[in-house]
Amino acid sequence: MPKQSEPSGPTDAANPFETAKRQVDIVADLLHLDNGMREILKHPKRELSVNFPVRMDDGSYRVFNGYRVQYNMARGPTKGGIRYHPNVSLDEVRALAAWMTWKCAVVNLPYGGAKGGIICDPKHMSKGELERLTRRYASEISLIIGPEIDIPAPDVYTDSQTMAWIMDTYSMQQGYSVPGVVTGKPIALGGSEGRAEATGRGCAYVIREAAPHAGIRIKNGTVAVQGFGNAGSVTANLLHDEQGAQIVAVSDSKGGIYKADGMNPHAIEEHKKKTGSVVGFPGAKAISNEELLEIKTDVLVPAALENQITKKNADRIQAKIVAEAANGPTLPEADSVLFEKKVTVLPDILANAGGVTVSYFEWAQDIQRYFWELAEVNRRLERVMVDSYAQVHKIAESNHVHNRTAAYMLALQRVADAIRLRGIYP
Ligand code: GLU
Repeated sequence: MPKQSEPSGPTDAANPFETAKRQVDIVADLLHLDNGMREILKHPKRELSVNFPVRMDDGSYRVFNGYRVQYNMARGPTKGGIRYHPNVSLDEVRALAAWMTWKCAVVNLPYGGAKGGIICDPKHMSKGELERLTRRYASEISLIIGPEIDIPAPDVYTDSQTMAWIMDTYSMQQGYSVPGVVTGKPIALGGSEGRAEATGRGCAYVIREAAPHAGIRIKNGTVAVQGFGNAGSVTANLLHDEQGAQIVAVSDSKGGIYKADGMNPHAIEEHKKKTGSVVGFPGAKAISNEELLEIKTDVLVPAALENQITKKNADRIQAKIVAEAANGPTLPEADSVLFEKKVTVLPDILANAGGVTVSYFEWAQDIQRYFWELAEVNRRLERVMVDSYAQVHKIAESNHVHNRTAAYMLALQRVADAIRLRGIYP
């Protein structure tokens, strides 16, 4: 009989930080961590809330709220993206910062975890407004970021241009160029080859490694992708182009599309570029984001936001592999259901760690002022993802737990070891 500790009591689905703390508790029990260590792992180290005015195009001023949370820095400078979204909250940023801590530890990067966010609706802001918002936020958080302290990167609705503005703002304040203050920059400013597609590429490698254990073949196998942004579209492209998969469904915030005999993801990208959405792609049937999760497919890639697979729909998931390109798409209660249904879950902190892995390569290149070729970046990324998957799979098998618990066991043990070795100051 497989053993898997059951989460106790209901999770508040609206609060990702409650989920994040719950995940720590589940694994702290398995690792026999003492109460003091458990408390450390359940608290963010440092949180900055900033409220700042931005001049809008019509001449008016608006005050925006932003956050930067540095969750744990026992293993190195903190690392993690910045997201622009109307639903950003301090608790969401805390959860995402915790997940970054575990993610960096799973793939063994010398980093702690952090995250930032601004409550805003970037889809309804001009480029000039976004630049002023970004520069002012960068200036407000410059107190606590830097190549040796905390290194931001892109996340939901931020991109290489956002990073260029942050790099420039920080550099202006220092009086010299500091490319290592952010990753995910344009290549012309010290960005890395391969960073733009690293999250999707890493995810595709992990799916490839897991397929034989999940009893499926990716060649001619079916794939559904929820969220056709940076992570989702690259995962779809690579599974299609390099592994011969059929992309049967994709979606974005406006809705989804389905075609049983597969679609060319590059053509979907073109359609999205032209029309602003995947919806209306010729020859495909319209489906909702909720329906997409439940279609019969070999691989399901949630690549959008948190709280998508819950106790309500977990039982209806028909995929054999769920590969979490998004952060936090599955709730702990749903994990147990998927485990019982023998669905192979590739947890976010492993499946989407390719992004931060190449961010680490970018930072290392920036600090050395010595840049690598694309083939070198991808070779090293592949090695990190393949090795990390193998380690997680081994822990899952030997402890009879699902992959998320195994990934957390690996990560929390590494962070706890670092805390213990450093000791408690003073
Ligand atoms: N935002 C990405 C993530 O959630 C990348 C973070 C980074 O590269 O620092 O993993």
